Amino acid sequence: MFDVSRDQARQFFFEVRAKSKQSLPLSPLEDVALSIINHHPEYHALLDQPERYKDKDWQGESNEHNPFLHLSLHLAIEEQLSINQPPGIRAYFERLCLSLKDEHLARHVLLESLTEMVWQAQVNQQPLDNQRYLSLVEERLHQLNS
Ligand SMILES: [Zn+2]
Repeated sequence: MFDVSRDQARQFFFEVRAKSKQSLPLSPLEDVALSIINHHPEYHALLDQPERYKDKDWQGESNEHNPFLHLSLHLAIEEQLSINQPPGIRAYFERLCLSLKDEHLARHVLLESLTEMVWQAQVNQQPLDNQRYLSLVEERLHQLNS
């Protein structure tokens, strides 16, 4: 998973946004991040104000609403899809795209499933479980198709 400290992850997304606005060259990873940012216009104003948001704490609200957590999870999903890890994730993604006819929505289904698996592992104090992750994706796919 995309595993960097909170501050580094925030700095990374602020920089990608700033570079793209100045049309500066991006690394392959930054390119992936930019595509994610571009799919989230609701975060653009926030990403344009690093001084205001670099230390903001979303803990009081549900952490799910933390934009940087959301963007970081997207980056993790992109990495999973690029290497098909856990094995089969890419096939699930393709099936989700067929059902939803929208790649971004399909990515969000993976993201919700990943979040739920991580949350369950934390609550149960167990290691991350990719089989559980895939079965959560399968459940959501089943709901979409029923
Ligand atoms: Zn998203």
